[in-house]
Amino acid sequence: MSITKRFLESEEERNLLKEQALALVESGTLDGGGAAEGIARKLADTGRLDGLTSAQRAVYDRYIEPHFHIRCSNPDCGSEIEDYLVASAIQDDPDSALCGQCLHLKEQMMKD
Ligand SMILES: [Zn+2]
Repeated sequence: MSITKRFLESEEERNLLKEQALALVESGTLDGGGAAEGIARKLADTGRLDGLTSAQRAVYDRYIEPHFHIRCSNPDCGSEIEDYLVASAIQDDPDSALCGQCLHLKEQMMKD
């Protein structure tokens, strides 16, 4: 893998993390007290997990990261929704989120 490509990929990951962390802060989803929210705010700003202390990282692993794993609400599917859809799912309603494939199917059905 070239250095440029690696750089771009980590840039993309950071942007994704920023977006997802911001969605958590704005939606008020976080529990675990002020610590989790403070860390989410920091991540929304920097997008960098390696900037966290080990104590912050433990809070992240326990209270923040699990929110980034959302199951598709289609009972016939049950896949985890794709990373790029997670931020908007958190903001809308994680319980009714659909994965990319089911979203596509739904759009197809609405067209017919
Ligand atoms: Zn699905």
